[in-house]
Amino acid sequence: MRPLTEQEIRAAFVNCTKGEAKRLSVPRDLAERPWDDLDFLGWRDPQSPGRAYLATELDGRPLALAMRCPSSGVSQMRRSMCSLCMTSHTGGVSLMVAAKAGKAGQQGNSVGAYICSDLACSLYVRGKKDAGIGGRFHESLTLEEQNARTVANLSAFIASVTA
Ligand SMILES: [Zn+2]
Repeated sequence: MRPLTEQEIRAAFVNCTKGEAKRLSVPRDLAERPWDDLDFLGWRDPQSPGRAYLATELDGRPLALAMRCPSSGVSQMRRSMCSLCMTSHTGGVSLMVAAKAGKAGQQGNSVGAYICSDLACSLYVRGKKDAGIGGRFHESLTLEEQNARTVANLSAFIASVTA
């Protein structure tokens, strides 16, 4: 994807207030991120790991989500699959909960998705990051098709937040 600037990312949040978007933690090393290999940029707040964020560009428009991942010890050892990139991890997939955009979110409505805990989906699909034995099953889809599927899954998740 095209590299995004901190300003673009902060302006792209669809499900938090402008004040929150201004204050939340955006990675300082944006220039060093492997944008060419990313379908979206995902990160955790280093000060508060229960907060996760992702930013992408859909139809030429930057879009970002603020999410919470309630930490629970229950799923830690269970093997589960990321709903965006279809990578399986043992203990490496988290339920990420995004408040819905607008009024629905203010009323407490949210949507959740199981996503790679480190949000490195793009790198797992491309084989740039190792998901461990059995992490990626053999697929008949080409890499491009798998990347397109990640993007389609992500845009469906974003659509459910903004709906
Ligand atoms: Zn993933």
